[in-house]
Amino acid sequence: ARKRGGKNGVQLFDNDMVDIARKRLETEQFIEQGLREDWFDAYLQPIVALSDGRVAGFEALMRLNHPERGLLSPADIIGIAEENGSIGRIGDCILSRAIAHLSAISKLEGLGESYLAVNFSPLQFEPALPSRIAALLMDAGLPPSRIVVEITEAVLMLDNPVVRSVLDALSGLGCRIALDDFGTGFSSLSYLNRFPVDIVKIDQSFTRSLTSEQQDVRRKSRMLVEGIRTISHQMGCAVVAEGIETEEQWSMLQAMNVEFGQGYLFSRPLPLEALLAKLDELPPSDAHTQKVAS
Ligand code: C2E
Ligand code: MG
Ligand code: MG
Ligand code: MG
Repeated sequence: ARKRGGKNGVQLFDNDMVDIARKRLETEQFIEQGLREDWFDAYLQPIVALSDGRVAGFEALMRLNHPERGLLSPADIIGIAEENGSIGRIGDCILSRAIAHLSAISKLEGLGESYLAVNFSPLQFEPALPSRIAALLMDAGLPPSRIVVEITEAVLMLDNPVVRSVLDALSGLGCRIALDDFGTGFSSLSYLNRFPVDIVKIDQSFTRSLTSEQQDVRRKSRMLVEGIRTISHQMGCAVVAEGIETEEQWSMLQAMNVEFGQGYLFSRPLPLEALLAKLDELPPSDAHTQKVAS
């Protein structure tokens, strides 16, 4: 959008900018009202073992359920919440809801050890974070080993002493650290060396290009995925592939020894009630394992 100089040097904004400002203000209001009136929820997406499709854990994904507007996604909210400083309160709200969901899920047969992965933005890395997580887990009667803290390299790029000590404290508590969207951005391999990373999540763009129409794209992305997988394993990290949508992607990743995955093929992110219903049908049939293995 373009600014025009007005009288007396006052800037008048064109309609685009007015729209953007209005939308932003509206989102800020939704956030405040959402926090007050409990519109935020943590939707959960299963993370499965690619060898047999069994559920290993769940990623919590923020949703704001507006009574009239319907669901707002993280893309609508996070940037604004980071800028106006509300991300900390939203993060706390998502975290406590997600932990409550994990408690409920843990009662199901076979899911007593399943883990919860929660996304954190760089601004949430403050000294009090580990003790807040520890307190919530204590209240829920869950050990820190059930929690995975998902960060992107945006957190590690800050490379400040607070980030390092928060990561060390979380790690010391027994939480695991996952590096999200790996392979996008700058993805410095030295992060795997310099920070206590336990899990590498291969970005969904790689999963998608594994089954590209173009042969050379397929071939190159297979090499990239194999490279990331090899380095990650050598560094002692488990690997999760994101964005698996087709059986073919599942088989390919399984053949490449990527041990975990998530994506619409297994389940979309769901609110707790829908997830509990879905979990009945999810744990895999042996038939599928055999089909993929052959
Ligand atoms: P992410 O952590 O990489 O999460 C994975 C995103 O991929 C989610 O989008 C998920 O809905 C989507 N996804 C999962 N499976 C598939 C698939 O098979 N195909 C496709 N096309 N997409 C799939 P979502 O929920 O819109 O979240 C977007 C991003 O917002 C997340 O990316 C994460 O970076 C951020 N985010 C989500 N929840 C939170 C939160 O509570 N706090 C913070 N700080 N960030 C969050
Ligand atoms: Mg994530
Ligand atoms: Mg990701
Ligand atoms: Mg992502």
